[in-house]
Parts: sequence; structure tokens; C-alpha cells
Amino acid sequence: MSSGQVTPLTSSDATEARAQMVEHQLRRRGSFDERVLEAMARVPRDRFLPEELRHLAYEDGALPIGSGQTISQPFIVATICQLLELSGDERVLDVGTGSGYQAAVLAELAAEVVTIERVPELAERARSALVQAGYADVEVLVGDGSLGVPARAPFDRIAVAAAAPVVPPALYDQLVEGGRVVVPRGGRWGQQLVLVERTKKGPLERASLPCRFVPLVGAEGFAGS
Ligand code: SAH
Repeated sequence: MSSGQVTPLTSSDATEARAQMVEHQLRRRGSFDERVLEAMARVPRDRFLPEELRHLAYEDGALPIGSGQTISQPFIVATICQLLELSGDERVLDVGTGSGYQAAVLAELAAEVVTIERVPELAERARSALVQAGYADVEVLVGDGSLGVPARAPFDRIAVAAAAPVVPPALYDQLVEGGRVVVPRGGRWGQQLVLVERTKKGPLERASLPCRFVPLVGAEGFAGS
């Protein structure tokens, strides 16, 4: 059956596959702003995947990217962007770079993106994928993102792409007033994607949808795996 060969995705195939993804996985299933849909239609998800998985880039799911980690499902990436309500001039922190895909979508929607990854090899690969896909301005850092990035704080928005038992207090502290953080909160095997806004009176929280992310491993996440 498989000879180990996969048909390479040409760039026009990819553009078409992306348009289908936006239509079927996003527009018909959720209520997303046009800006979010346009960003999802622009970012070449295939470029953020290992070569042998690129032909699956526009399927409706998460995919392995090495080091036991995954690129998030397009629907989840779009949902995080939607919850963050980005208008274009925000400074954003993306925790859990993984492939760099979420960071690229955020870069389409905001002014400045800093992303942090704990696994150096993934950060390195994400950095080169981001450059190749035209997102060289995204700053990729290596470290424990459960502590945020105090040297670059404050942020208008923070997106966390790994599951945490609680909303890491350091992340909340690094938000401007009126800022928002989205975190998959819960146990290792299932979470709720929650949106928390920083207000004068303290955290204002709204629950969103059930989800399943890899664990956030760090000082304010889960113990190492
Ligand atoms: N947004 C990514 C999804 C990556 S999966 C994408 O679009 O591809 C979550 C990532 O979070 C993994 O790469 C994992 O290594 C990373 N991670 C887990 N704990 C972390 C921590 N404390 N700080 C930074 N990154 C972390």
C-alpha cells in the first residue's frame, strides 16, 4: 500500500485546502469574526508540520510534531483567537509554541507576538518555520512559560496552548488591565478552555468549551513528564 511516499502539497493545493478548512471546520461550525477566518485562511499550516505529515495539514484534528507534542486542531486555534478578541494593535504572549502555528495566526491578528516553548528543539524548528512562512517578527523564546515572560510584560493578551491545573497567577499578573488570557484549565486528560479578563475588581472569568491539550509542564503547571 504505502511506499512511504506522499504526494507533495503544491501551494495552490494548500490554498484550496485551507479555504475548504475555513468553510467546513470553522464557518459552518462556529461563530468566528471575519478577521479570524481570514487569518486562518492565510497561514500555511502545512509549513508548520514535519514533511511527512504535510498532506494532512488541513484535516480536522491535532497532529504530532515530535517530542511527544502536537499542533493544535484548527478549530481550537481559531477559538483561542476569537476569545482573545484581537483588533490588531495588541502585544500578545503565546505560551507553548509547539510548531509555531498558533503564533503565526496570532501574528496575523495582533501587532506583536512573543512565544515561549520549553522544548528547545521544538522552539528551534518553530523559529525556522515562522521565518520561512513570513513571520520573522515573532519572537521565539525557550523557557518555562507557566511563569510568563516578565522581561517583556505587560501583555494585552496571553494564549496558553497547554493544559494547566489553574490559570497560572504569573500570567494573570502580566496582563494589562482589560487584558485577557485563554487557558485550557483542568486535569491532565481533559480541560475547559477558559477566558479570564483582568479587571480593576480582579479576575473576571468565563468558561468556554471542553478541550484536551498536552500538559503545561512547569513551576505553575504540572510536574515534569
Ligand atoms: N500552539 C501550538 C500547540 C503546541 S502543544 C501549535 O500551534 O503548534 C503545547 C506546547 O506547549 C508543547 O510544544 C509543549 O512542549 C509546550 N509546553 C508545555 N509546557 C510548557 C511550559 N511550561 N512553557 C512553555 N511551553 C510549554
